Amino acid sequence: MRKNIRVLMIGPHPDDCDFRCGGLALKYARAGHQVKFISLLDGSGGHQSMKPADIAARRKQETQAVARLAGIEYEVWDIPDCELMADLPTRKRLIRAIRTFQPDLVFSCRPNDYLADHRNASLLVQDASYLLIVPNFCPEVPAMKKMPVILYFYDSFQNPPFIADLAIMTDDVIEDKFHMLDCHESQVYEWLPYTKGTLHTVPTDPAARFEWLHQPRLPRDGQPIDATALAGLMTGAMSEYREAIPAIKFRHKLIERYGERGARALFAEAFSVCEYGAPLTPEAEKELIPF
Ligand SMILES: [Zn+2]
Repeated sequence: MRKNIRVLMIGPHPDDCDFRCGGLALKYARAGHQVKFISLLDGSGGHQSMKPADIAARRKQETQAVARLAGIEYEVWDIPDCELMADLPTRKRLIRAIRTFQPDLVFSCRPNDYLADHRNASLLVQDASYLLIVPNFCPEVPAMKKMPVILYFYDSFQNPPFIADLAIMTDDVIEDKFHMLDCHESQVYEWLPYTKGTLHTVPTDPAARFEWLHQPRLPRDGQPIDATALAGLMTGAMSEYREAIPAIKFRHKLIERYGERGARALFAEAFSVCEYGAPLTPEAEKELIPF
């Protein structure tokens, strides 16, 4: 019988999982596996004009739109943005949440990242890792029998640089990934452009702004983009180019996994193994990441 894979993606804010592993989440969900996103924080910090409670409520609604669209569960915790601490109560809360879901795979960010919320999310996952199987810690939720595989999602920070242990082609799900991002209206069309000084470029018409979200689009002329072209074309955090960066940087991993198809892949997501989880052996990878 085919294994039902349980995937838990843990992001600091209500959009981090979508950006970093939304494509892979779509692949699991489409194949009938169980995917849950947890946003550890409530999203209350990320808006230029809305009050914290109002933006938190709106961002919760946006996550539920993503959940419906992608066929996943999306849980948002009540911790205010900018206040995530890798402390004992939060560690226990996370351990209870992970044990309850019983994931085969856990995804989160790396411990070096620009926001304390991101760093602490990573630290919480690391701090939780071994304790997941320790029955005397948080005994109210039974300890896991088997440690999950833990993976970090891609980031561009350089100290130390990201090492891709695997790269997954997302060409087949890229449009739905953009639809997931489109659900995060208050972020992709308001807050993020505000922080980048590009708010005035966002169209008001929904179809026009969805196109704006893709811009500039990658050429579809059959030629893979190289790093030189990328430098000249990358205009910001939005655009198809952001989704192409892991494919360009980790082309060798795509070729290793997909052969000729990997050489032509336009879009990818990349992941690095966290050594505190179960080892990602070739057998485990074949069973748990069948894409
Ligand atoms: Zn974030």
